[in-house]
Order: sequence, then C-alpha cells, then structure tokens
Amino acid sequence: MLPKIRPSSLLLALILVSAGSLAQGSSPAASPDAGMRDSAAFLQRAKQHAKLPDHEKEITQLLSRMTLKEKVGQMTQLEIGMVSDGIDQQLRINPAKLEKAIAQYGVGSILNVKDEALTPAAWHEVIGQIQAAAARTRLKIPVLYGIDSIHGANYIQGATLFPQPLAMAATWNPELMMRGSQITADETRAAGIPWSFSPVLDIGRQPLWPRLWETFGEDPHLASTMGVAMVRGFEGQNPAGEHNIASSLKHYIGYSGPNSGRDRTPALIPETTLREYYLPTFRAAVDAGARTVMVNSSEVNGIPGHVNHYLLTDVLRKELKFDGLVVSDWEDIKKLVTIHRVAATEKDATRMAVMAGIDMSMVPSDYSFADLLLQLVNEGAVPTARIDEAVRRILRVKFQLGLFERSVPDASWTARIGTAESRQVSLQAARESITLLKNDGDVLPLKSGTRVLLTGPTADTLVSLNNGWTYSWQGDRPALYPKDRPTVRQALEKRAGAQQFAYVPGADFDKELDLSAARAAAAQADVIILALGEPSYTETPGNIADLTLPDAQLKLADAMIATGKPTVLVLVEGRPRIISRVADRIPAIVMAYNPSNEGGQAIADVLFGDVNPSGRLPITYPRNPNALLTYDHKAFETDAPDFAIKAFQPQFAFGSGLSYTTFAYSDLKVTPAAVDAKGTVTVSVKVANTGARSGKETVEVYLSDLVASLTPPGKRLVRFAKIPLEPGASEVLSFTLNNADLSFIGPDNKPVSEPGDFEIAIGSLHAPLQVNSQARPERSAHEAVSKTR
Ligand code: BGC
Repeated sequence: MLPKIRPSSLLLALILVSAGSLAQGSSPAASPDAGMRDSAAFLQRAKQHAKLPDHEKEITQLLSRMTLKEKVGQMTQLEIGMVSDGIDQQLRINPAKLEKAIAQYGVGSILNVKDEALTPAAWHEVIGQIQAAAARTRLKIPVLYGIDSIHGANYIQGATLFPQPLAMAATWNPELMMRGSQITADETRAAGIPWSFSPVLDIGRQPLWPRLWETFGEDPHLASTMGVAMVRGFEGQNPAGEHNIASSLKHYIGYSGPNSGRDRTPALIPETTLREYYLPTFRAAVDAGARTVMVNSSEVNGIPGHVNHYLLTDVLRKELKFDGLVVSDWEDIKKLVTIHRVAATEKDATRMAVMAGIDMSMVPSDYSFADLLLQLVNEGAVPTARIDEAVRRILRVKFQLGLFERSVPDASWTARIGTAESRQVSLQAARESITLLKNDGDVLPLKSGTRVLLTGPTADTLVSLNNGWTYSWQGDRPALYPKDRPTVRQALEKRAGAQQFAYVPGADFDKELDLSAARAAAAQADVIILALGEPSYTETPGNIADLTLPDAQLKLADAMIATGKPTVLVLVEGRPRIISRVADRIPAIVMAYNPSNEGGQAIADVLFGDVNPSGRLPITYPRNPNALLTYDHKAFETDAPDFAIKAFQPQFAFGSGLSYTTFAYSDLKVTPAAVDAKGTVTVSVKVANTGARSGKETVEVYLSDLVASLTPPGKRLVRFAKIPLEPGASEVLSFTLNNADLSFIGPDNKPVSEPGDFEIAIGSLHAPLQVNSQARPERSAHEAVSKTR
C-alpha cells in the first residue's frame, strides 16, 4: 500500500516512496542506495525542512497594539473545564466562562478534554465556539488549542490509534514512524486542533518509571531518529497546512530519570550524562524544526525544571537555537511552592519561572498566573522585554500554524479521521513492532490445526493493548474502546478456529483466580499461550513497588508450565516486568509492548506465522531487579577480569529480536582502518537471508571506544538500517561514520574526540578502527580539567 502523498511535499514524497517500498516488502537487489536507507541518511533527509515564512513584521506590529493584560493573557493556558460545564460526552461550552477567559483575560491557549475523547463533531463545536469568541476580541488573536495526541489522535473518537511510542521504536522503522505521525497530525487537525503535546523525547533508561512506554527507549540514536520522524510527520514542510500540527518536545529535560523510579521525583544527573544521553533527542528534534517544548515537572540536581534558567535559556535558546514557545507542564508553577519548595509564594514562583524561560503556563484551572504576572510586571519584578519575548514566540507559533488565516476546521475534514487505509498503517506498525525474544525448539510459528489454550489477564482486553492516553488519561474505560477491534482472544480464536481454541482467564493482573479450569483446558491443548503483563496506567497512578511481574501471574505461568505442554509467553506491557522466575522454563517469549487496537490481530498474525516478526527491543529487558542497567553500561560491568561484578546479565538484550528466517552477516569492512579524528569511515557488511522465508532484518552498528578519558561505555549504537530480504537474497550495506560518532561528552561537558583504538561491531562481527592524531595530547581531558579547578 502506497501512502497518501500531498502535493506540497515533494521531499517528503520521495522519503515516503522509499517507506512504501519497505512497507511492501519489495525484494531488493543489492542496491547502490543501500546506504541511503540507514538511520543517518534518514535523519539527514528529515532535517531538511523548508524555511518557514517570516512573520516577524506582523508580530512586531501586533505586539505594539497589545496591552500588558492582553500579553499576559497570551501566556496563559487553561484546561477546557475553565470554559465549559459537564464532563465526558456532556461537555458543553459555557458562554459566560468563555467570555471571561477570552474577552476578559485574552487567554492564549486551552487544552485537552474533560475527561473522555470527544467525537469529531463535538470538537468542531468546541473549537468553533472558542475561536468565534477570539474573533470577537479587539485584536482577534486565535486561540492555540493543544492536546495529547500520544499514539494517534487518542482524544478524538474514531481516530486511528498507533502502537505506543516504545512499540514504535521497536519497529526500528523511522519511515513508518513518520507515516503514522502524518496520519496523527492529519486527524488531529481535522478535528480543529493544531498542536499536540508529543513526541515524548525523554530517554527511557529507567524501567521502573511509569512513562517508559511513552518513550522511544533507552538509546539516544534510536530515540532521536524516531523523534525526528515524528516531528517531521507532524509538522510537514509547513505546519500551516490543514494536514499538519505543531509538535511539543517533552519533558525538557531529565524527567525520565527519577532515582526512585517514581513519577515526578528527583533525578540526579551529572551534566556529562545529561548531555550524552538526555539532550541528543531534543537537540535533533529542535534541529528538525519542532515548534514547541514542554518542561520537566520534576527536578534535576535539586533544580526544578521550571526554574532552571541554564537549561531553559542558556542551553535551549542559546545553544540549541530554539525559537518556538516553551510551555510549562500541568500546574507546575504552583508546584514550585507546594511540592518543590523553592518559592514561598505563587507570585515568586511565577516570577522565577517566567524569568527562567517559561513562555506559557499550563496554569490550568484558575487565573492566578495572569493576575500575578500582571502585578509582577507593574512592580518592575519582570521586565516588559521578557513578556514581549514570550508573546512573540507564542504569536510566531500561531502565525506558523496558519491560525490567523484559518482557525476553525471545515466540516468535511472529519472524513479523514479513522480511514481503513490509516488503520492498515497501524496494523503494519503493530506487526513490525512485535519482538520475538525466544523460540527454543521452534515452538513458533504455530501450525494451522494446533489446539490452543489462551490464558492470562491481557488476553481479552483492548485496554492493555493500548495503555494510557487512550480515550481518557488513564485509558482505563473499556466502554470507550471500539467494538470492532479484536482482542488477542478474538483474533486467535478466529485464526485457530473455534474448535481448536479455548480461553480461560487464569489470573487477574495481581489477583489469583482458581487455576483448575486453566489446568483442565491445558490437558486438551497442544500449546498454551500465556498473555501476561500490565493494565493501563500513566504518570503517578502507574508507580509500582516492584518491577517483578505480580505473583498471581507468575503462579499462573508456573501452573501452565507444570502441565508439560509447550508454553508461549506473550507480554503485553509498557515496561519490562521481570520474569526471570519463569523465563528459562518457557520455550517461546514474545514482547508485544502496547500495540494498540490492531495489536490483537498483529499478535495472532505473528504467532501463526502469517507475519514474520521483525521487531527489536528498544530497551534492555532486565533479569534482576538489582541490575537495571542499560546496554551502554560501562564495559567493566560485563567483563571486569578480576572482580565478580558481572552485574549485566539481561534477560534479553537491547536490539535483540528473532525471526522465523535466519540471517547471516559476513564481510565486515572498515575503510580506512585508521583515520584522524576529523576523518570519515565507511563500514560495510553483507547480510544474507539464509532461511526459507522472506523477512526484515535490522542491521545495528555499534562502536566501542576502548580507552577514553571518562570511563567509556562498552558500546554505543551509531547506525541502523532495516531491510527486507527474500530467502537466498543478500545485500551489502554501507554506513558512513564521522567525527560526531567518534566523540563523547568529555569532563568539560563538551564533545571530545580522542585518538586511540576503537572497535566496530555488527552482529557477531568485529573490526578494529584506529583514530590517529598528529600528537597524542599530553594530558587527558580529565586531567586538564582538574588542573584548572
Ligand atoms: C503530563 C504531560 C501532558 C499534560 C497535559 C501532564 O500531567 O505530564 O505529559 O502533556 O499533563 O495533559
């Protein structure tokens, strides 16, 4: 299926044609453009966006006509309840409340739902009334409506939902990511909403954290590639179009690294680490033209995100050159007083946040921000220049989104929402995300005619397939889910045939049920599919005390293993719940993540071999709770010769994932084998499909810096490419590495490339690379820094 191509985006069209050919699994000859398909080439192409029209003169003129009250109004974002009555489907705009927000306060932005997804028609009604109120004001500045479209337009009934971001990362297919994001943008805008609070660019290195599944996983290169794909898919070549929206890179920065693993709790992140692992995703997405950034609700190194002038202004504005708007997260200025205790009063908190670099406050449920900011400016505590700067950025985004030309949707746009074609893209994404982690004795794929027992708490629910941000914040209202999408149970029953299929719940998420029915059904089955995992959750409600899969589910697994029938474990979960108690006794394990509404079908397709799995883990799957390490841990944590450290023994490795065919790697070449630090290196490898089925293989290129002035990680992912290969076919892929790949963040917090020995690894092949310098520095960077202290 070829994607829809919009005439305005020629460049995008070219990229999509290549995505289309991947999507169709067309058989590639050993092609000269193989290197064009790698992650670096994708990033390079995706970053080349057109320069947006310049609206600075219009903005200057508009600013000169605005009162201070109108300006602070623009900096205010309210939740929808501030202009409406009723919740869920009863939500109705309240004209008096709307008048207060728009006419009296000149509020610049409104967000979200209360609390359920609305129909497209209801959105048109809501947006129409809000924009009509704005059009009646003196300056007619349109309202910027924002929403969390996290995995599709999940607050719009009937929209196409996609696998959650962690699952999208598991596809290792940025073109598919971009295609899905285009659909999300198209459907969000079709409802009249021009701004999404996504992508989540927090790096997912803390598996306890309840928002891990909202991230693109633990690796900066993979997450940057997927993040840029989302930004480009959302914003297109010009976000003013009726098919595009502004993205919001969140949660800048360090939000995903709480030491406790609990949401919105403190992180301690040295600046070298922050820059090496947390900043690259944001930097790449800002480079790709992202229009807005949302701030970390929590604190890093004792400084709440919302008052961190260094990160919000020095790094984001001066270093990254971000010129869009920065919005706070939910109620976070108030929390500087109530939670973080860095301000004694809300007024002081407002001053600190605005002076640190917050342009817009997601207040969101009163007018305190506008009132206090007005006072602060009148008292001289916040300079007018800072207000003008913030409002300029807000107006810039509104102009760039074309809101001054058109702020209300056309009724006909709703026909674009939830088309059959878009649903196919979601199905493809779900299929490509599913990751086969273990398949001893080729238990999978199941043969037609196999008698299947399905059991476990994620077997018969769309809620686990989707997780949070699905029709409501927590995604936990089954009544809101579509009735025509199969759960795992429904899809498997159809595929296996009713006569060959049995389903027994077996266990609740953390409650034991009577196991006798499951045991009895197992006796009649050839294979047992254990569908285990998690219910839906996000943010604080998703905090857990133990990463281990709950005992009730492990007991069900034990009971099923004890029957002696082959078992297949399907994990439907947002983070890697520890399964080491049972994993070694289960021959086949499939990670399904949260594959969304088409996930039931996709899981059945993979289990029965109608689809050959090609997902790869975008995270490390830990074996032990006391070794929550990422794949790019320090080298000695794996192989220190004289200590029994060996903490790193993951259950399943980052980047791993099996196929029903086999691939062989050969001819790894690194040319030249010795370069100076500024040189480029070509790495090539031959990949062959040596099995009997067509399949897709993700080629991952890792680089190890063997000696460095800061203890180096064992290895780092520097490139990847996903290619389809027919049985017997092979392809030579080549990748170009450059200075940036050879460098790391040194002790002075700047990138440094040091001469010495490196190693390149693809699959099980390794090749040395030497980086020369004219003269080796006399002191290491570390020594140089300590001497200057
Ligand atoms: C979350 C953000 C979200 C915002 C608006 C906050 O609680 O942290 O990710 O965009 O709410 O829904």
